[in-house]
Amino acid sequence: MKLFCPNCVGLVDVADGPRLQYVTGSCRHEIKVRTVRFKDAREGARTCLQNADSLAKSAEILFGNGAREHAFFMVLTAYEEMAKCSHIVDAAAQNYQTQTDMIVEESIFQYRKTKYAIAMHYLDAWIKEMDAIRRAFPDGGLEWMSLTQRPLEERLETKDPR
Ligand SMILES: [Zn+2]
Repeated sequence: MKLFCPNCVGLVDVADGPRLQYVTGSCRHEIKVRTVRFKDAREGARTCLQNADSLAKSAEILFGNGAREHAFFMVLTAYEEMAKCSHIVDAAAQNYQTQTDMIVEESIFQYRKTKYAIAMHYLDAWIKEMDAIRRAFPDGGLEWMSLTQRPLEERLETKDPR
């Protein structure tokens, strides 16, 4: 399986093993992980998808009102939720036979910057629509880059759907 290594800022191979707090990536870095019970996977994935849906709806409204930089931020946050969902689903699929607990990168829950990096890496890996987003935001998301440096509350001065 692959996990996101915050040191390498990329997905690395990780051997499936005992459910510890850290696993070692193929890069030899220790990656902090969280154990998620198999039976919680469905609810977790559903929550992420609902978040993504709310964020996408907010993005549409903001885009319609000309607040394009905020819309872009919302779209990326929605992708972040989808990346999280995809990861939970992948992990659950892997453990489907055994129904054992799954391990998910702790950084998905903790570090804001890492979460964006994870989302972007998943995007590179599996979402072709990114080109469509780039066309909709011809400034290349430079506004987004500056937005992500600000605290979350400030950035979501509109409404937080979560
Ligand atoms: Zn690494």
